[in-house]
Amino acid sequence: MLGAIEAGGTKFVCAVGDESGKITERIQIPTTVPEETMESVIQFFKQYSVQAIGIGSFGPIDVNTESPTYGNITSTPKLAWKDFPFVQTIKETFSVPVGFNTDVNAAALGEATFGAAKGLDSCVYITVGTGIGAGAIVQGNLLQGLSHPEMGHILVRRHPNDSYEGKCPYHHDCFEGLAAGPAIEERWGQKGKDLVEREEVWEMEGYYIAQALMQYILILSPKKIILGGGVMNQKQVFSYIYKFLPELVNQYVSLPELSGYIVSPGLGDDAGITGSLLLAYQALQNEKSYK
Ligand code: ADP
Ligand code: ZN
Repeated sequence: MLGAIEAGGTKFVCAVGDESGKITERIQIPTTVPEETMESVIQFFKQYSVQAIGIGSFGPIDVNTESPTYGNITSTPKLAWKDFPFVQTIKETFSVPVGFNTDVNAAALGEATFGAAKGLDSCVYITVGTGIGAGAIVQGNLLQGLSHPEMGHILVRRHPNDSYEGKCPYHHDCFEGLAAGPAIEERWGQKGKDLVEREEVWEMEGYYIAQALMQYILILSPKKIILGGGVMNQKQVFSYIYKFLPELVNQYVSLPELSGYIVSPGLGDDAGITGSLLLAYQALQNEKSYK
């Protein structure tokens, strides 16, 4: 049996299951402070005998196994979680192999294994929610360099009608600063779900997402692009992406048929937790190959 934690800014999902992606039990825990949230996480896993635990976490996180702070959450604006030693806390409690990656890398892994990118050796998974993040599978592996990618904070060209300053505390008008849920809410004065009838909202959203996707396509050339997160419940945004992306790319590279190329998650809301189970499985396999 494998354990999985999808650690988000508003809630944690914990689950047990197996490497086929089957989840047998799960719970949701509100994200408050580490002492409180982790206590519930630990209580949950104490009921089972798990062989490994996979964590897909909000970030930024330290994923460099050579680093002295490997396994920590690093520079998050959620101050109670800054420098929290996530992997160490789980390892000390359960003494099992622990897999650790970003929430969006976990979701990309879940989708590439069992979801919309099943059978493909590359994909990008993007969440447009409280923040914007993306994970990527490249040549069959999760993309990692010095650290993990932070594809939500790239720069985009402003929409001609957009005078909103942007919400990113680091860059103001980066992609996340202009297009995540809180930016939509602040720019238009209402929550996204209450702006359904306002076409200009979703046209602008599609304009920004199309630019980001063009950059991901030009740099990574993924075989599938998966868009999840609360904002993508507004399905009309897809139509604007399908309109703006070809205009931007302007036939420089050939794009597949877009409605099959840029899609919603095949695993729905379970992409992240399923990917976290797979991170647990990878950690277990790695441990075995060292022995
Ligand atoms: P999180 O990013 O915290 O994991 P979500 O992916 O649900 O959670 O994203 C939450 C954000 O998405 C909020 O800013 C919220 O306003 C927005 N959102 C959620 N549902 C919808 C919807 N149906 N339409 C538009 N925006 C939505
Ligand atoms: Zn930013």
